[in-house]
Amino acid sequence: MTYTLEGTTGPWEVVIGLEVHAQVTSQAKLFSGAATAFGAEPNSQVSFVDAGFPGMLPVINAECIAQAVRTGLGLNAEIHLWSRFDRKNYFYADLPQGYQISQYAHPIVGQGAVEVTLADGSTKTIGITRLHLEQDAGKSLHDQHPTKSYIDLNRSGVALMEIVSEPDMRSPEEAGAYLAKLRQIMRYLGTCDGNMDEGSMRADVNVSVRRAGEGYRTRCEVKNVNSIRFVMQAVEAEARRQIEVWESGGTVEQETRLFDTARGVTRSMRSKEDAHDYRYFPDPDLPPLVLEQGWVDQLKAGLPELPDQRRARYAALGLSAYDAQVLTAERETAAFFEEVAHGRDAKAAANWVTGDYFAALNRLKRTVTDSPVSAKHLGELLDLMADGTLSGKLAKEVFEAMLEADEAPGAIVEKRGLRQVTDSSAIEAVVDEVLAKNADKVADYRSGKDKLFGFFVGQTMKAMAGKGNPALVNEVLKRRLA
Ligand code: ADP
Ligand code: MG
Repeated sequence: MTYTLEGTTGPWEVVIGLEVHAQVTSQAKLFSGAATAFGAEPNSQVSFVDAGFPGMLPVINAECIAQAVRTGLGLNAEIHLWSRFDRKNYFYADLPQGYQISQYAHPIVGQGAVEVTLADGSTKTIGITRLHLEQDAGKSLHDQHPTKSYIDLNRSGVALMEIVSEPDMRSPEEAGAYLAKLRQIMRYLGTCDGNMDEGSMRADVNVSVRRAGEGYRTRCEVKNVNSIRFVMQAVEAEARRQIEVWESGGTVEQETRLFDTARGVTRSMRSKEDAHDYRYFPDPDLPPLVLEQGWVDQLKAGLPELPDQRRARYAALGLSAYDAQVLTAERETAAFFEEVAHGRDAKAAANWVTGDYFAALNRLKRTVTDSPVSAKHLGELLDLMADGTLSGKLAKEVFEAMLEADEAPGAIVEKRGLRQVTDSSAIEAVVDEVLAKNADKVADYRSGKDKLFGFFVGQTMKAMAGKGNPALVNEVLKRRLA
């Protein structure tokens, strides 16, 4: 189904392309040895290079290059063995060098593709135009002093990957799904932590609208949106604004806009006429970046299993598409599931993890990373069901006890005497007692009131404190009532 927005003159299609800035996970900055940890004391992670001192020379950090190549491989993209760093010149207080080192004409990664899954289960491929490396700028702090602005250069020089998509997205949902997928891939790869609230990932959202069947119209770029939800909101707000402009006889002008999250509208930041002339030229301090194919192959061989591959593997184990999707969403969840499922029935493990376990996490407001029960103990619980020690009902009771103290389920079973009764003669004795006590109901049952069977099951289970093996209880009752 195509997503459209209804104007006063008919439906409009929305066209979206994203430019995502993703901070490279690395110990040191792109061209200096200063640290990159988030939340450090202002200006405590700044080298002379990052502060733009005269005469300082950038030295490339090979790990950042490897991270960009890994990301490119994870995006099924072409790796360019020859790329180049350019200077992007502009003046701003948080940019001490007076230019940003970036890759303009020759990025390290070229065209690729990412597949996203939408809520209705359909998939769509979004084209990647390029990925290039660049330095981040510092940060101005405006609210610390009545008359002065402060500058924090901790972020100055940190390596960023700018990932540019083709204008392939057609709805807020697709834009959100694409961003979520990018983040998931980079988290699996360990190349960007994807923490949007810490600024590790932010998106410039390009939006235009058109009538069905038309070529692209002029786009506007909404800068620096810092959550998936805001990206989706910005797309819709900006598309609605453009529809109004077109429908009232106006023309959408190409410009850079900001999303006002409080009011849910975009507003103009600068028009194309005030667009910077960055006067790009090759950085004379840096030679072209030349990679060896053998090194790229080595990085490729060392890539971890990615979300798509993992999902396919789970589907092959017999999991539903939905379970496979949910269990692979976060790397930590997948690892937890794998430990529970190891050497066991994968489907039973998936049912427990996505069922009772996720419900418990929700209820306790916990996550897999601070799980109230260990994967080891949850696996042991499955074993106790598989070997008949616990019925499904008793297992739930043991699980509740495990949530209170992450104790081994075997120990809980012993301590509380929760072992299921699978001894037929013990069950027969109880059944005979129940039938003797309810002779009138037995007569009713035998004269055709089939529905009473459930009553006998309930009475027997009650008499056994819920510990009778349900299948055996059923079987004995059928036999005795025949
Ligand atoms: P620039 O380099 O000037 O920012 P690009 O052509 O590289 O421009 O495009 C930047 C982003 O804008 C890309 O993500 C691209 O997909 C997107 N884009 C280009 N044309 C359109 C359009 N008509 N509508 C929506 N997005 C677009
Ligand atoms: Mg742009």
